[in-house]
Amino acid sequence: MAENGKPIRQAQDKPKVAFFDFACCEGCQLTVVDSLQTHLELVEAVEIVQFREAMTEKGEDYQIAFIEGSCTREEDEVRLKEIRKQAAIVVALGACAHTGGVNALKNIQPSLQDVREYVYGDKWEWYNTYPARPISAVIEVDAFIPGCPIDRFEFVDVVKKVLLGKQPVIPDYPLCVECKLKENVCMFDKGGVCLGPITRAGCDAICPTYGDGCEGCRGLIPNPNENAMKEVLVEAGLTVEQLMAKMTMFNAYNPSQIDF
Ligand code: SF4
Ligand code: SF4
Ligand code: SF4
Repeated sequence: MAENGKPIRQAQDKPKVAFFDFACCEGCQLTVVDSLQTHLELVEAVEIVQFREAMTEKGEDYQIAFIEGSCTREEDEVRLKEIRKQAAIVVALGACAHTGGVNALKNIQPSLQDVREYVYGDKWEWYNTYPARPISAVIEVDAFIPGCPIDRFEFVDVVKKVLLGKQPVIPDYPLCVECKLKENVCMFDKGGVCLGPITRAGCDAICPTYGDGCEGCRGLIPNPNENAMKEVLVEAGLTVEQLMAKMTMFNAYNPSQIDF
């Protein structure tokens, strides 16, 4: 039984699952499609009633909702609340839904009007928008799958946990742990900037492993250690501003998560 009292599994039925997209690139849904091709047991275990990326049917009777994308318009709020009302379990799928993701980059531009004109040219009036928000800013979220895009194995694990009625376990320790295990040379020792000390692990430190600093697509860890991060910056001869510039890509919605 979920928190809102709705049954996840009905006696004779498989759990009904729906996928929804808001402001996003749909890359996380593509990862879902990719994952399901090699994990047919998941397709067997549930009944997918709505998944625009993969099917034309649009069933409105579902117990589990995966939501990709950010809330960027008033009408998004209405739709999100409708989904929340129907679903026993809501899972935020990917960085756009989890942190606001790249959509929140527009929040830090001088004016949203400039953003609309830049993107839509002389048709800007056709498209309304407001500052991007993660879906948890609008509705209660039961679980999240971080990343841009999501990790296919983590998706499979989360689905299995949800179907078993368990809370999915998402790493809450810093990316540096995984990076050290891979024996990478630290980006700070190579003159780079990396958000690894404050970013949630779980991607196997893929960016530093391939020579790029982490940009924090999996969101920050709970209670990031600001003092330790500052020490790393001082040692590397870098400034807080250089670090905060790196934060804008995926964490512009709430940069005050870390307080320097
Ligand atoms: S998190 Fe990244 S891959 Fe997923 S929908 Fe958003 S922009 Fe696309
Ligand atoms: S490269 Fe980044 S993630 Fe790896 S150890 Fe250095 S700061 Fe941490
Ligand atoms: S290293 Fe950082 S930016 Fe790259 S995938 Fe992992 S969390 Fe995302």
